[in-house]
Amino acid sequence: MTSEQSDDDIFLDSTISKTDPFFFPSSPKSVTTKRNHEASHDTISPLIRQIKSASLSIGENGENERTIHNRRRPSVLDEKALREADTETVREQRIDAISRSYQGILQSIGEDPSRQGLLKTAKRAAEALVFFTKGYEQSIRDVVSDAIFDEECENMVVVKEIDMYSLCEHHMVPFFGKVSVGYLPNKRVLGLSKIARIVEVFSRRLQVQERLTRQIAEAIAEAIEPRGVAVIIECLHMCMIMRGAQKVNSRTTTSAMLGEFREDPKTREEFLTLGRIKPF
Ligand SMILES: [Zn+2]
Repeated sequence: MTSEQSDDDIFLDSTISKTDPFFFPSSPKSVTTKRNHEASHDTISPLIRQIKSASLSIGENGENERTIHNRRRPSVLDEKALREADTETVREQRIDAISRSYQGILQSIGEDPSRQGLLKTAKRAAEALVFFTKGYEQSIRDVVSDAIFDEECENMVVVKEIDMYSLCEHHMVPFFGKVSVGYLPNKRVLGLSKIARIVEVFSRRLQVQERLTRQIAEAIAEAIEPRGVAVIIECLHMCMIMRGAQKVNSRTTTSAMLGEFREDPKTREEFLTLGRIKPF
């Protein structure tokens, strides 16, 4: 789907049937009383429905705002880990395979992989890459399942300036920065350290900043079905800084606003003040 389509276009998309339960839940009543996060998604809360057609505003240094509308997506909570991490043997095989590839890369760039300084480089690089992508070994459900608590709190929860390191999926070079997350509880809260863990799981994968922003918001929305979720990320992209453009201090800002954060400008404003990311 292109970035230019409006919300209405999502409903006109030929791949989405008018009877799709994501968009046309049969019973609004069951939607609002749903509590159990383990329950299947045959009844969907309004917030969850909203994230299935969520829009992100993306701006570079706050400029050139544009909006992307996403088509229906599978549940973030139901996503399985993409690779095994349980046995030492699996890990060693993976590192061996990546090391051989790095040997080839070293030769292809004109280096001599057998010279002293590079002798162990391919293996070290492989180990580093496995670490940088360890988010593939984890699922969000494992992260949040033991950290959802019933709580009458209604006030905004903000965890600000969480450090974040990722690899851009277009160049496999780092992008890094800070993440601020806010949500409005709806009788359930998430253990505070788990918000940083969610950021970690999604950022330790090949990513684009836009998707990372959305996935963090969706994971929190699905886990505790709050009244709203807000995520803002500011990053430096080494692929912009080190390559062609060489825009040294250009920070990229992305945000995802769901529920009351999207609907109520005052709530959004409060989050943007509380979660403000200082220059880094
Ligand atoms: Zn890049």
